[in-house]
Amino acid sequence: MKVIKKLFLPTSYVDNFTNITPARLNQLGVRAVIIDLDNTLVGYDEMDANEKVIDWFKLMNDNDFKVTIVSNGKKKRVSNFADPHDIDYIFNAQKPLSRNYKKAIRLMGVPKNETIMVGDQLMTDIFGANLIGLKSVLVIPVKSRDGYATLLNRRMEAIIMRYFRKKGLLVKED
Ligand SMILES: [Mg+2]
Repeated sequence: MKVIKKLFLPTSYVDNFTNITPARLNQLGVRAVIIDLDNTLVGYDEMDANEKVIDWFKLMNDNDFKVTIVSNGKKKRVSNFADPHDIDYIFNAQKPLSRNYKKAIRLMGVPKNETIMVGDQLMTDIFGANLIGLKSVLVIPVKSRDGYATLLNRRMEAIIMRYFRKKGLLVKED
């Protein structure tokens, strides 16, 4: 079971992306954030950034943290969301493959150990981060129901989450 922990355990676990504050990032020694889009920043069926998301982008920018959205979504979905706010992004990212995490890190020009990945799915977001030893934060999905494609992932995730909880490995922070 050690391998399950190595592959799927996030560095930390919080309610949502607004818990990712400059103070917390400073604590972690982080200067750059790779963040998932669907069900992390907004619900999978919400097309536009809302006020909470826009405020968070501004907070990150004002405090000199770099942000790149890395999404498995299609170009149109991701660009429609990110372009109005001038946020960098990579679409069709094929997470859990870590190739595009590496690309985002390269583009932000920050060392890997000063970068963190934020996402709502163990089987893609967190798995991909762990494959390359990237720090990660698991957030609770914005919408409890999501696309059909993630159904199997969600089932496996539920089993792994139960195991982590039982072992006291996954404790939600404030
Ligand atoms: Mg997601």
